[in-house]
Amino acid sequence: MKETPNNPKLILEESKTVKLFISLFYIFFFSYDIFHYYIVPIYTKEGMIGLEKNGLGFWFHTAIIGLLPIALYFIKKGNPYIVKYIFLFSFAFIETVNSLVIYFGSNKPYGSGNIVELLFVFFSPIFVNKKYFWIAALTMIGKYAIIGGILQDTNVVIPIITFSVLSVIAYFLLTRFTSYIDSLTSVHLELRKKEKLAVIGQMAAGIGHEIRNPLSSLKGFTQLQQERYPNTNDFYPIMIQEIDRINSIVNDLMYLGKPKEIKFVKANIEEIIAYTLSITQQQAEKQGVTIKTMMEGPLPPLDCDSHQLKQVFINLLKNAIESMPEGGTIKVNVNVLEGRKMSIFIDDEGYGIDEENILNLGEPFFTTKRDGNGLGLMVTNQIIKDHKGNMKIESKLEKGTKVTLVLPIIQK
Ligand code: ADP
Ligand code: MG
Repeated sequence: MKETPNNPKLILEESKTVKLFISLFYIFFFSYDIFHYYIVPIYTKEGMIGLEKNGLGFWFHTAIIGLLPIALYFIKKGNPYIVKYIFLFSFAFIETVNSLVIYFGSNKPYGSGNIVELLFVFFSPIFVNKKYFWIAALTMIGKYAIIGGILQDTNVVIPIITFSVLSVIAYFLLTRFTSYIDSLTSVHLELRKKEKLAVIGQMAAGIGHEIRNPLSSLKGFTQLQQERYPNTNDFYPIMIQEIDRINSIVNDLMYLGKPKEIKFVKANIEEIIAYTLSITQQQAEKQGVTIKTMMEGPLPPLDCDSHQLKQVFINLLKNAIESMPEGGTIKVNVNVLEGRKMSIFIDDEGYGIDEENILNLGEPFFTTKRDGNGLGLMVTNQIIKDHKGNMKIESKLEKGTKVTLVLPIIQK
Protein backbone atom coordinates (compact mmCIF):
# COMPACT_ATOMS: atom_id res chain seq x y z
CA MET A 1 0.00 0.00 0.00
CA LYS A 2 1.15 3.55 -0.58
CA GLU A 3 2.68 5.34 2.36
CA THR A 4 0.73 8.59 2.24
CA PRO A 5 -2.32 8.09 0.09
CA ASN A 6 -4.28 11.33 0.03
CA ASN A 7 -7.66 9.80 -0.41
CA PRO A 8 -9.96 11.37 2.24
CA LYS A 9 -11.34 7.97 3.25
CA LEU A 10 -7.89 6.55 3.84
CA ILE A 11 -6.85 9.65 5.77
CA LEU A 12 -9.94 9.24 7.96
CA GLU A 13 -9.09 5.58 8.53
CA GLU A 14 -5.54 6.47 9.52
CA SER A 15 -6.83 9.22 11.84
CA LYS A 16 -9.08 6.72 13.62
CA THR A 17 -6.21 4.29 13.98
CA VAL A 18 -3.89 6.99 15.25
CA LYS A 19 -6.45 8.14 17.82
CA LEU A 20 -6.87 4.58 19.03
CA PHE A 21 -3.13 4.25 19.19
CA ILE A 22 -2.65 7.48 21.15
CA SER A 23 -5.38 6.53 23.64
CA LEU A 24 -3.83 3.14 24.22
CA PHE A 25 -0.41 4.75 24.47
CA TYR A 26 -1.38 7.09 27.30
CA ILE A 27 -3.46 4.46 29.09
CA PHE A 28 -0.53 2.03 29.03
CA PHE A 29 2.00 4.68 29.85
CA PHE A 30 0.26 6.08 32.94
CA SER A 31 -1.11 2.74 34.16
CA TYR A 32 2.39 1.37 34.10
CA ASP A 33 3.84 4.32 35.98
CA ILE A 34 1.10 4.29 38.60
CA PHE A 35 1.59 0.56 39.02
CA HIS A 36 5.35 0.76 39.09
CA TYR A 37 5.88 3.85 41.25
CA TYR A 38 2.86 3.72 43.57
CA ILE A 39 1.14 0.36 43.78
CA VAL A 40 4.19 -1.89 43.83
CA PRO A 41 6.10 0.11 46.47
CA ILE A 42 3.00 0.39 48.71
CA TYR A 43 2.26 -3.28 48.38
CA THR A 44 5.79 -4.60 48.81
CA LYS A 45 6.84 -1.81 51.15
CA GLU A 46 10.07 -1.63 49.19
CA GLY A 47 11.52 1.28 47.28
CA MET A 48 10.24 4.80 47.21
CA ILE A 49 6.64 5.72 46.68
CA GLY A 50 6.24 8.26 43.91
CA LEU A 51 7.96 9.08 40.66
CA GLU A 52 11.63 8.53 40.16
CA LYS A 53 13.50 11.63 41.20
CA ASN A 54 16.53 10.67 39.16
CA GLY A 55 16.79 11.01 35.45
CA LEU A 56 14.65 13.56 33.68
CA GLY A 57 12.04 13.10 36.41
CA PHE A 58 9.19 15.52 35.94
CA TRP A 59 10.43 16.61 32.51
CA PHE A 60 10.18 13.07 31.22
CA HIS A 61 6.42 13.02 31.76
CA THR A 62 6.01 16.60 30.56
CA ALA A 63 7.74 15.74 27.30
CA ILE A 64 5.58 12.67 26.76
CA ILE A 65 2.37 14.60 27.43
CA GLY A 66 3.67 17.34 25.14
CA LEU A 67 3.45 14.90 22.22
CA LEU A 68 -0.33 14.97 22.42
CA PRO A 69 -0.95 18.53 21.10
CA ILE A 70 1.60 17.90 18.34
CA ALA A 71 -0.24 14.74 17.32
CA LEU A 72 -3.61 16.50 17.36
CA TYR A 73 -2.16 19.29 15.25
CA PHE A 74 -1.01 16.88 12.54
CA ILE A 75 -4.29 14.96 12.59
CA LYS A 76 -6.17 18.22 12.16
CA LYS A 77 -3.89 19.28 9.33
CA GLY A 78 -4.79 16.07 7.49
CA ASN A 79 -1.45 14.35 7.93
CA PRO A 80 -2.12 11.62 10.50
CA TYR A 81 0.47 9.37 8.86
CA ILE A 82 3.37 11.08 10.53
CA VAL A 83 1.96 10.86 14.08
CA LYS A 84 2.95 7.26 14.75
CA TYR A 85 6.53 8.05 13.78
CA ILE A 86 6.57 11.15 16.02
CA PHE A 87 5.49 9.03 18.99
CA LEU A 88 7.88 6.22 18.18
CA PHE A 89 10.99 8.33 17.70
CA SER A 90 10.23 10.87 20.43
CA PHE A 91 9.49 8.17 22.96
CA ALA A 92 12.55 6.14 22.05
CA PHE A 93 14.73 9.24 22.23
CA ILE A 94 13.34 10.61 25.51
CA GLU A 95 13.46 7.17 27.11
CA THR A 96 17.03 6.60 26.01
CA VAL A 97 18.19 9.96 27.36
CA ASN A 98 16.31 9.29 30.60
CA SER A 99 17.92 5.86 31.00
CA LEU A 100 21.40 7.22 30.30
CA VAL A 101 20.94 10.07 32.79
CA ILE A 102 19.87 7.60 35.48
CA TYR A 103 22.31 4.80 34.87
CA PHE A 104 25.36 6.28 33.22
CA GLY A 105 28.21 6.37 35.70
CA SER A 106 26.16 4.73 38.45
CA ASN A 107 26.68 1.12 39.43
CA LYS A 108 22.96 0.35 39.66
CA PRO A 109 22.07 -2.54 37.33
CA TYR A 110 20.05 -1.35 34.34
CA GLY A 111 16.31 -1.83 34.70
CA SER A 112 14.11 0.60 32.87
CA GLY A 113 11.74 0.92 30.03
CA ASN A 114 7.99 1.21 30.08
CA ILE A 115 5.53 -1.45 29.09
CA VAL A 116 4.15 1.02 26.53
CA GLU A 117 7.10 0.15 24.32
CA LEU A 118 5.52 -3.22 23.67
CA LEU A 119 2.57 -1.37 22.20
CA PHE A 120 4.72 0.16 19.49
CA VAL A 121 5.66 -3.22 18.15
CA PHE A 122 2.78 -5.46 19.08
CA PHE A 123 0.10 -3.05 17.88
CA SER A 124 2.00 -2.00 14.77
CA PRO A 125 -0.23 -4.24 12.58
CA ILE A 126 -3.18 -1.90 13.18
CA PHE A 127 -1.53 0.57 10.84
CA VAL A 128 -1.31 -2.07 8.12
CA ASN A 129 1.99 -0.64 7.02
CA LYS A 130 5.05 -2.81 6.56
CA LYS A 131 7.46 0.08 6.56
CA TYR A 132 6.20 1.28 9.94
CA PHE A 133 6.40 -2.22 11.34
CA TRP A 134 10.05 -2.59 10.41
CA ILE A 135 10.94 0.85 11.67
CA ALA A 136 9.14 0.27 14.99
CA ALA A 137 10.70 -3.15 15.55
CA LEU A 138 14.21 -2.00 14.65
CA THR A 139 13.91 1.23 16.67
CA MET A 140 12.95 -0.64 19.83
CA ILE A 141 15.58 -3.33 19.42
CA GLY A 142 18.15 -0.71 18.40
CA LYS A 143 17.32 1.43 21.42
CA TYR A 144 18.20 -1.38 23.83
CA ALA A 145 21.28 -2.30 21.85
CA ILE A 146 22.53 1.31 22.10
CA ILE A 147 21.76 1.58 25.81
CA GLY A 148 23.40 -1.81 26.42
CA GLY A 149 26.46 -0.69 24.48
CA ILE A 150 26.87 2.61 26.31
CA LEU A 151 26.16 1.26 29.80
CA GLN A 152 28.05 -2.00 29.19
CA ASP A 153 25.13 -3.78 30.83
CA THR A 154 23.86 -7.20 29.79
CA ASN A 155 20.41 -6.61 31.29
CA VAL A 156 19.30 -5.30 27.90
CA VAL A 157 19.35 -8.81 26.48
CA ILE A 158 15.94 -9.66 27.92
CA PRO A 159 14.08 -6.72 26.32
CA ILE A 160 15.91 -7.37 23.05
CA ILE A 161 14.74 -10.98 23.03
CA THR A 162 11.22 -9.93 24.05
CA PHE A 163 11.03 -7.44 21.21
CA SER A 164 12.38 -9.91 18.70
CA VAL A 165 9.73 -12.47 19.62
CA LEU A 166 6.99 -9.85 19.60
CA SER A 167 8.15 -8.61 16.23
CA VAL A 168 7.83 -12.07 14.74
CA ILE A 169 4.27 -12.41 16.05
CA ALA A 170 3.38 -8.89 14.91
CA TYR A 171 4.88 -9.64 11.52
CA PHE A 172 2.61 -12.65 11.08
CA LEU A 173 -0.44 -10.63 12.11
CA LEU A 174 0.53 -7.87 9.74
CA THR A 175 1.03 -10.27 6.84
CA ARG A 176 -2.43 -11.72 7.47
CA PHE A 177 -3.94 -8.22 7.43
CA THR A 178 -2.15 -7.16 4.29
CA SER A 179 -2.89 -10.32 2.39
CA TYR A 180 -6.56 -10.05 3.36
CA ILE A 181 -6.67 -6.45 2.20
CA ASP A 182 -4.82 -7.31 -1.01
CA SER A 183 -7.35 -9.95 -1.89
CA LEU A 184 -10.23 -7.56 -1.14
CA THR A 185 -8.59 -5.02 -3.41
CA SER A 186 -8.17 -7.51 -6.20
CA VAL A 187 -11.80 -8.62 -5.91
CA HIS A 188 -12.79 -4.99 -6.09
CA LEU A 189 -10.62 -4.38 -9.16
CA GLU A 190 -12.04 -7.46 -10.83
CA LEU A 191 -15.55 -6.22 -10.17
CA ARG A 192 -14.73 -2.84 -11.62
CA LYS A 193 -13.25 -4.49 -14.68
CA LYS A 194 -16.37 -6.60 -15.06
CA GLU A 195 -18.55 -3.53 -14.77
CA LYS A 196 -16.48 -1.74 -17.36
CA LEU A 197 -16.75 -4.72 -19.64
CA ALA A 198 -20.48 -4.94 -19.11
CA VAL A 199 -20.89 -1.31 -20.17
CA ILE A 200 -18.59 -1.74 -23.17
CA GLY A 201 -20.43 -4.94 -23.99
CA GLN A 202 -23.88 -3.41 -23.88
CA MET A 203 -22.79 -0.49 -25.99
CA ALA A 204 -21.00 -2.75 -28.41
CA ALA A 205 -23.93 -5.10 -28.74
CA GLY A 206 -26.26 -2.18 -29.39
CA ILE A 207 -24.04 -0.54 -31.96
CA GLY A 208 -23.09 -3.88 -33.49
CA HIS A 209 -26.70 -4.77 -34.03
CA GLU A 210 -27.32 -1.49 -35.79
CA ILE A 211 -24.27 -1.88 -37.99
CA ARG A 212 -24.87 -5.45 -39.04
CA ASN A 213 -27.95 -4.91 -41.14
CA PRO A 214 -26.67 -2.07 -43.31
CA LEU A 215 -23.41 -3.96 -43.58
CA SER A 216 -25.02 -7.07 -45.00
CA SER A 217 -26.88 -5.09 -47.64
CA LEU A 218 -23.67 -3.25 -48.46
CA LYS A 219 -21.91 -6.55 -48.97
CA GLY A 220 -24.77 -7.94 -51.03
CA PHE A 221 -24.81 -4.94 -53.34
CA THR A 222 -21.04 -4.94 -53.68
CA GLN A 223 -21.13 -8.58 -54.71
CA LEU A 224 -23.91 -7.82 -57.15
CA GLN A 225 -21.95 -4.96 -58.59
CA GLN A 226 -18.91 -7.19 -58.97
CA GLU A 227 -20.92 -9.77 -60.86
CA ARG A 228 -22.44 -7.12 -63.06
CA TYR A 229 -19.14 -5.52 -63.98
CA PRO A 230 -16.60 -8.29 -63.65
CA ASN A 231 -13.89 -6.48 -65.62
CA THR A 232 -14.18 -2.89 -64.43
CA ASN A 233 -11.57 -2.82 -61.70
CA ASP A 234 -9.89 -4.73 -58.91
CA PHE A 235 -11.51 -2.92 -56.07
CA TYR A 236 -14.53 -5.10 -55.48
CA PRO A 237 -12.67 -7.99 -53.86
CA ILE A 238 -10.93 -5.53 -51.57
CA MET A 239 -14.23 -3.89 -50.69
CA ILE A 240 -15.77 -7.25 -49.89
CA GLN A 241 -12.75 -8.26 -47.86
CA GLU A 242 -12.91 -5.03 -45.85
CA ILE A 243 -16.65 -5.43 -45.27
CA ASP A 244 -15.92 -8.92 -43.97
CA ARG A 245 -13.39 -7.46 -41.64
CA ILE A 246 -15.87 -4.98 -40.22
CA ASN A 247 -18.27 -7.85 -39.87
CA SER A 248 -15.83 -9.92 -37.87
CA ILE A 249 -15.11 -6.98 -35.57
CA VAL A 250 -18.81 -6.48 -35.05
CA ASN A 251 -19.21 -10.17 -34.30
CA ASP A 252 -16.43 -10.02 -31.71
CA LEU A 253 -18.05 -7.03 -30.08
CA MET A 254 -21.42 -8.70 -30.03
CA TYR A 255 -19.97 -11.81 -28.45
CA LEU A 256 -18.66 -9.70 -25.60
CA GLY A 257 -21.96 -7.92 -25.30
CA LYS A 258 -24.00 -10.96 -24.58
CA PRO A 259 -22.01 -14.09 -23.97
CA LYS A 260 -24.33 -16.74 -25.24
CA GLU A 261 -25.59 -19.75 -23.41
CA ILE A 262 -23.20 -22.43 -24.55
CA LYS A 263 -24.49 -25.71 -25.87
CA PHE A 264 -21.88 -28.39 -25.30
CA VAL A 265 -21.87 -31.04 -27.97
CA LYS A 266 -19.30 -33.77 -28.52
CA ALA A 267 -17.03 -32.69 -31.31
CA ASN A 268 -13.89 -33.85 -32.98
CA ILE A 269 -10.93 -31.58 -32.23
CA GLU A 270 -9.09 -32.72 -35.39
CA GLU A 271 -11.97 -31.46 -37.49
CA ILE A 272 -12.13 -28.15 -35.66
CA ILE A 273 -8.42 -27.56 -36.16
CA ALA A 274 -8.54 -28.70 -39.80
CA TYR A 275 -11.32 -26.20 -40.43
CA THR A 276 -9.38 -23.32 -38.87
CA LEU A 277 -6.27 -24.27 -40.85
CA SER A 278 -8.26 -24.09 -44.04
CA ILE A 279 -9.43 -20.58 -43.13
CA THR A 280 -5.99 -19.27 -42.21
CA GLN A 281 -4.01 -21.14 -44.84
CA GLN A 282 -4.14 -18.43 -47.47
CA GLN A 283 -2.72 -15.78 -45.17
CA ALA A 284 -0.06 -18.20 -43.93
CA GLU A 285 1.08 -19.08 -47.44
CA LYS A 286 1.25 -15.45 -48.42
CA GLN A 287 3.71 -14.82 -45.57
CA GLY A 288 5.74 -17.99 -46.03
CA VAL A 289 4.48 -19.53 -42.81
CA THR A 290 4.12 -23.29 -42.48
CA ILE A 291 1.85 -24.80 -39.88
CA LYS A 292 2.78 -28.20 -38.46
CA THR A 293 0.19 -30.09 -36.49
CA MET A 294 0.98 -32.92 -34.09
CA MET A 295 -1.89 -34.83 -32.60
CA GLU A 296 -1.40 -37.72 -30.31
CA GLY A 297 -4.27 -39.76 -31.71
CA PRO A 298 -6.78 -41.21 -31.42
CA LEU A 299 -8.21 -38.23 -29.59
CA PRO A 300 -11.43 -38.53 -27.60
CA PRO A 301 -14.39 -36.35 -28.58
CA LEU A 302 -14.46 -33.03 -26.75
CA ASP A 303 -17.50 -31.48 -25.08
CA CYS A 304 -17.58 -28.02 -26.58
CA ASP A 305 -19.27 -25.45 -28.68
CA SER A 306 -17.39 -26.20 -31.88
CA HIS A 307 -18.38 -22.94 -33.54
CA GLN A 308 -16.80 -20.97 -30.73
CA LEU A 309 -13.71 -23.14 -30.52
CA LYS A 310 -13.16 -22.51 -34.21
CA GLN A 311 -13.29 -18.82 -33.41
CA VAL A 312 -10.64 -19.40 -30.71
CA PHE A 313 -8.24 -21.19 -33.04
CA ILE A 314 -8.75 -18.68 -35.81
CA ASN A 315 -7.89 -15.86 -33.39
CA LEU A 316 -4.82 -17.61 -32.06
CA LEU A 317 -3.53 -18.81 -35.42
CA LYS A 318 -4.05 -15.36 -36.91
CA ASN A 319 -2.06 -13.77 -34.12
CA ALA A 320 0.68 -16.33 -34.63
CA ILE A 321 0.81 -15.77 -38.39
CA GLU A 322 0.67 -11.99 -37.97
CA SER A 323 3.68 -12.16 -35.66
CA MET A 324 5.80 -13.76 -38.42
CA PRO A 325 5.97 -11.29 -41.30
CA GLU A 326 9.20 -12.96 -42.47
CA GLY A 327 7.77 -16.47 -42.38
CA GLY A 328 8.60 -19.45 -40.19
CA THR A 329 6.93 -22.42 -38.60
CA ILE A 330 3.95 -22.65 -36.28
CA LYS A 331 3.53 -25.81 -34.26
CA VAL A 332 0.05 -26.86 -33.26
CA ASN A 333 0.06 -29.69 -30.78
CA VAL A 334 -2.78 -31.61 -29.11
CA ASN A 335 -2.33 -33.91 -26.11
CA VAL A 336 -4.59 -35.66 -23.67
CA LEU A 337 -3.73 -35.03 -20.02
CA GLU A 338 -4.60 -37.74 -17.49
CA GLY A 339 -7.46 -38.83 -19.70
CA ARG A 340 -9.57 -35.93 -18.46
CA LYS A 341 -8.19 -32.84 -20.10
CA MET A 342 -7.08 -31.83 -23.52
CA SER A 343 -4.06 -29.60 -23.85
CA ILE A 344 -3.54 -27.71 -27.07
CA PHE A 345 -0.68 -25.39 -27.78
CA ILE A 346 0.12 -23.05 -30.61
CA ASP A 347 3.78 -22.20 -30.72
CA ASP A 348 5.07 -19.59 -33.15
CA GLU A 349 8.48 -18.18 -34.10
CA GLY A 350 7.25 -14.62 -34.31
CA TYR A 351 8.36 -11.33 -32.83
CA GLY A 352 7.05 -12.19 -29.38
CA ILE A 353 5.51 -9.96 -26.75
CA ASP A 354 7.52 -7.84 -24.35
CA GLU A 355 7.03 -8.29 -20.61
CA GLU A 356 5.20 -5.04 -20.16
CA ASN A 357 2.63 -5.90 -22.79
CA ILE A 358 2.04 -9.42 -21.49
CA LEU A 359 0.13 -7.79 -18.62
CA ASN A 360 -2.12 -5.95 -21.06
CA LEU A 361 -3.13 -9.01 -23.06
CA GLY A 362 -6.84 -9.56 -22.94
CA GLU A 363 -7.60 -5.94 -22.04
CA PRO A 364 -10.30 -4.71 -24.37
CA PHE A 365 -8.87 -2.88 -27.38
CA PHE A 366 -5.25 -3.55 -26.45
CA THR A 367 -3.36 -3.96 -29.69
CA THR A 368 0.12 -3.24 -31.02
CA LYS A 369 -0.96 -3.63 -34.63
CA ARG A 370 -1.72 -0.80 -36.97
CA ASP A 371 -4.97 -2.36 -38.06
CA GLY A 372 -5.64 -4.60 -35.07
CA ASN A 373 -8.70 -4.20 -32.90
CA GLY A 374 -7.45 -5.76 -29.67
CA LEU A 375 -10.50 -7.94 -29.20
CA GLY A 376 -9.24 -11.34 -30.36
CA LEU A 377 -7.58 -12.45 -27.16
CA MET A 378 -10.36 -11.08 -25.06
CA VAL A 379 -13.00 -13.03 -26.92
CA THR A 380 -10.73 -16.08 -26.88
CA ASN A 381 -10.28 -15.78 -23.14
CA GLN A 382 -14.02 -15.46 -22.62
CA ILE A 383 -14.78 -18.53 -24.71
CA ILE A 384 -12.14 -20.60 -22.92
CA LYS A 385 -13.53 -19.48 -19.57
CA ASP A 386 -17.02 -20.42 -20.70
CA HIS A 387 -15.61 -23.87 -21.43
CA LYS A 388 -14.13 -23.99 -17.90
CA GLY A 389 -10.70 -24.14 -19.44
CA ASN A 390 -7.46 -22.30 -19.04
CA MET A 391 -5.26 -20.21 -21.30
CA LYS A 392 -1.59 -19.53 -20.69
CA ILE A 393 0.61 -17.27 -22.81
CA GLU A 394 4.39 -17.50 -22.69
CA SER A 395 6.51 -15.32 -24.88
CA LYS A 396 10.08 -14.30 -25.58
CA LEU A 397 10.87 -11.23 -27.63
CA GLU A 398 12.25 -12.10 -31.06
CA LYS A 399 11.89 -15.80 -30.25
CA GLY A 400 8.19 -16.48 -30.34
CA THR A 401 5.03 -17.03 -28.42
CA LYS A 402 3.39 -20.14 -27.08
CA VAL A 403 -0.27 -20.16 -26.21
CA THR A 404 -1.44 -23.19 -24.27
CA LEU A 405 -5.09 -24.08 -23.80
CA VAL A 406 -6.27 -26.71 -21.39
CA LEU A 407 -9.89 -27.82 -21.75
CA PRO A 408 -11.87 -30.39 -19.81
CA ILE A 409 -12.88 -33.23 -22.14
CA ILE A 410 -16.20 -33.76 -20.41
CA GLN A 411 -18.31 -30.84 -19.19
CA LYS A 412 -20.33 -31.52 -16.09
P1 ADP B 1 -5.16 -7.86 -32.34
O1 ADP B 1 -4.64 -9.13 -32.98
O2 ADP B 1 -6.30 -7.28 -33.06
O3 ADP B 1 -4.09 -6.86 -32.07
P2 ADP B 1 -5.50 -9.56 -30.07
O4 ADP B 1 -6.37 -9.46 -28.86
O5 ADP B 1 -5.64 -10.78 -30.89
O6 ADP B 1 -5.76 -8.26 -30.91
O7 ADP B 1 -4.00 -9.43 -29.62
C1 ADP B 1 -3.61 -8.34 -28.81
C2 ADP B 1 -2.13 -8.09 -28.91
O8 ADP B 1 -1.40 -9.16 -28.33
C3 ADP B 1 -1.58 -8.01 -30.31
O9 ADP B 1 -1.72 -6.70 -30.84
C4 ADP B 1 -0.12 -8.39 -30.15
O10 ADP B 1 0.63 -7.31 -29.69
C5 ADP B 1 -0.18 -9.37 -29.00
N1 ADP B 1 -0.12 -10.76 -29.46
C6 ADP B 1 -1.10 -11.68 -29.40
N2 ADP B 1 -0.70 -12.86 -29.88
C7 ADP B 1 0.59 -12.71 -30.25
C8 ADP B 1 1.60 -13.59 -30.84
N3 ADP B 1 1.32 -14.85 -31.14
N4 ADP B 1 2.82 -13.06 -31.05
C9 ADP B 1 3.10 -11.77 -30.76
N5 ADP B 1 2.22 -10.92 -30.23
C10 ADP B 1 0.97 -11.37 -29.98
MG1 MG C 1 -5.64 -10.90 -33.07
